[in-house]
Amino acid sequence: MLKRKPSPLEGEGQLFKRSAGKQGEGAGRVSIRAPTPAAPPHPDSSLTLQNLSLSLKGRGGAGLPRMPELPDITVYIDALQSRIVGQTLDEVRVASPFLLRTFEPALEETFGHEVVELRRLGKRIAFGLDNDLWLVLHLMIAGRLHWKDPGAKTHSAKIPGGKSGLAAFDFLTGTLTLTEAGSKKRASLHVVRAGELDAHNSGGLEPLDATQEEFVAVLRSCNHTLKRALTNPRLFSGIGNAYSDEILHAARLSPVTLTQKLTDEDAARLYTATQQCLQDWITLLRDQTGDGFPTKVTAFRPEMSTHGRYGQPCPICGSPIQRIRYANNETNYCAKCQTDGKVLADRSLSRLLKQDWPRRIEEWE
Ligand SMILES: [Zn+2]
Repeated sequence: MLKRKPSPLEGEGQLFKRSAGKQGEGAGRVSIRAPTPAAPPHPDSSLTLQNLSLSLKGRGGAGLPRMPELPDITVYIDALQSRIVGQTLDEVRVASPFLLRTFEPALEETFGHEVVELRRLGKRIAFGLDNDLWLVLHLMIAGRLHWKDPGAKTHSAKIPGGKSGLAAFDFLTGTLTLTEAGSKKRASLHVVRAGELDAHNSGGLEPLDATQEEFVAVLRSCNHTLKRALTNPRLFSGIGNAYSDEILHAARLSPVTLTQKLTDEDAARLYTATQQCLQDWITLLRDQTGDGFPTKVTAFRPEMSTHGRYGQPCPICGSPIQRIRYANNETNYCAKCQTDGKVLADRSLSRLLKQDWPRRIEEWE
């Protein structure tokens, strides 16, 4: 029943385009583009010698793992809903001493209890049990979930995933495993009581539930670059580096515009683009996942318009996608669509975004 293959859409040439149709012509237009074969970097004006040497070191966005964001977490929760809600959690096997960040209540207190609810808290997944305890899982950048059918599981077996295997959650219906690639183990698991759950929510506005007035009020509540405002978990819930690039492209706004300089019209367009973009991606990821367990939600997405597509043509206007690099990160944008055709000087803007960016990776949430 759970074994249907993911939709064959993955990697094929469909073109998804739609118009928001709410805020006027072109407003909030979201283009989920058809994948094209990888192209070499475009010889554009921001490709200085310095950039080139950095890009040759493999710092381009396409190759970097990215943190699961609202649409990605949503499809993980969809897939978990049918597999583990109403099921008893037999045991949690933890391989890495770094993963579990709490010692009271003990992890063992969750064993033998039924999962009654799943919730997304920003970019975290929270599992509610019938004894009012919650398991709060943050995948950070490289953490990924996998599902093994019951046949593949025995409780004494090693945690699947080799060196990357961090934990296994055993149910009668199968085993949920957590892996984290790389040597930096950042993924975290907390066991908390229901009353302590709020401490694991950064408090950002839920972008898909917000009215335009609420969204604009939060946007203008402090003066950040748009890039930072959208990705700040205290302002907005669940938006990270990838979808903020896509949202800003759909809204035709520069990533470095300051929030308090936005016109009312721009702010309205950003609201529409945010809702449209996140909803379109949830739909696309759901279609691609079908009844299967999501395996590629956070892989490089060839359907994206700008994110991870430095040097490749903008799906709207054909101009090469530009980038600004900062703090081991990169923002991608289209100069023609978003910055009046100006290629933003990489170095000074990097400084601007770096100053506006939290130093610690945990603050991305
Ligand atoms: Zn463009």
